[in-house]
Amino acid sequence: MPVQEAIAVEQPTHGIFSWPEQPRVKLGRTGAEPELSETEQQFQDMAHGFARDVLRPIGRQLDRMTPEQVIAPDSPYWVMRSKYNELQINPLTLSELSPKEIARINPIINEEFGWGDGGLAVSLGSGQLPAMLSLMFGKAYLLDRFSVEQVGCWAITEPDHGTDALDPSRQIFHPGGAYGKPNCVARFEGDKVVINGQKSAWVSNGPIAEVCVLYCSADTGAGPDPQRGAVILVPLNLKGVGKGKPLDKLGQRGLPQGELFFDNVELPLDHVLVGPDHFQRAVYAVHTEANMAMGAVWTGTARSAFDIAWDYAHSRKQGGVPIYRHQSVAHRLFHMYRRVEAARALVRRVTEFNTLAELPALQSAMACKVTCTQAAFDNASDAIQLLGGNGVTREYPVEKIFRDARAAMIEDGCNEILAIKGGTIMMDPDLL
Ligand SMILES: Cc1cc2nc3c(=O)[nH]c(=O)nc-3n(C[C@H](O)[C@H](O)[C@H](O)COP(=O)(O)OP(=O)(O)OC[C@H]3O[C@@H](n4cnc5c(N)ncnc54)[C@H](O)[C@@H]3O)c2cc1C
Repeated sequence: MPVQEAIAVEQPTHGIFSWPEQPRVKLGRTGAEPELSETEQQFQDMAHGFARDVLRPIGRQLDRMTPEQVIAPDSPYWVMRSKYNELQINPLTLSELSPKEIARINPIINEEFGWGDGGLAVSLGSGQLPAMLSLMFGKAYLLDRFSVEQVGCWAITEPDHGTDALDPSRQIFHPGGAYGKPNCVARFEGDKVVINGQKSAWVSNGPIAEVCVLYCSADTGAGPDPQRGAVILVPLNLKGVGKGKPLDKLGQRGLPQGELFFDNVELPLDHVLVGPDHFQRAVYAVHTEANMAMGAVWTGTARSAFDIAWDYAHSRKQGGVPIYRHQSVAHRLFHMYRRVEAARALVRRVTEFNTLAELPALQSAMACKVTCTQAAFDNASDAIQLLGGNGVTREYPVEKIFRDARAAMIEDGCNEILAIKGGTIMMDPDLL
């Protein structure tokens, strides 16, 4: 039998033999996504619809407003919040799911929100922290005092202590350094705690928050100690609480930020979520959650830059063809796609590991934040290049995404600091 005939006879009709000669796969919304469960798909659809119809258009409007206009009573920011509350996606409703479902669904929701608008996704995320941490630290009774719909904030950094505030264990503190005075101190006095001082102008939601998760130094009688601090839930309508003016900034302009001031603010001890003995562990636990959530949000933003560039590459013609037909453009789009897939895979995997582990790995969560914010920044920069001159105009959305992503590389800890701290945590694990 001639060789050609023999080959033809041996070939089955399934598997690769049934494929078209030049296989092409059209990927879905989230790329090479193994099938989602029904519940996961429902959450993704719900979060995507909200991101598309509310977060993205309102985020663009807010970006062009002054910080004062963003928080004014007639601002579209409040429309966004009321539509978000209608979704009923919050720590209380999510706590009805199993830990495994939560581990899968949280990054799916956060990615969609970040796809809509990174800064507004952060505003919603920090808004939920009081409820989330009340549950996490076994103080569910506080949920009776603060509704999940109230706007929360997370006040960590101080005017004189930015990076320092994220490193209470002093793992990366300079060996010859002197810490100086903390700017905000909680004095423990019998059955109450008295708070004095201020937090930095960077507190996300600071100007609009109704309740604050406050990290501060604790004074239990021997003077303020930043390494033995406290995490306290502080209602912001108390006597002695003040707020600074909203901050004007480069990116994430829809996210209101501003200082908080405390002048002899008194609270019963049951508002203390975590006291000095467990402060460093609490910082570890909360930063693990925050770094994973940031990873998912900025994966979404990286994806939005990719989606916009993809559509543009199919509609813009140069050299007689849609620019996608040029190899350099296809090459750029491939790398944008690759970054999104890698960022998503990392976040989903680490979130599942950390949510189900007895002791989560902060270094892995930090890897998420660093990788995904870098992916968002690189994709936004590539999208600007791909859109050519249009990329730098305010008529197109990519310059805003670029500014938002740039801020994310500092937010919740500068990326280089997270890398130093993450690397330090990884060092000699058997000895720690
Ligand atoms: C968009 C956005 C949102 C934010 N949201 C919040 C929020 O909700 N709540 C809140 O409390 N804060 C928030 N922040 C503040 C943020 O966490 C800090 O800006 C960040 O931790 C850096 O602190 P810093 O700005 O004081 O810079 P600094 O700490 O003064 O650092 C300045 C530079 O020095 C370097 N450096 C500092 N210390 C070290 C060190 N030990 N080793 C090596 N290099 C060092 C840093 O890498 C950086 O490049 C937000 C910031 C941004 C941009």
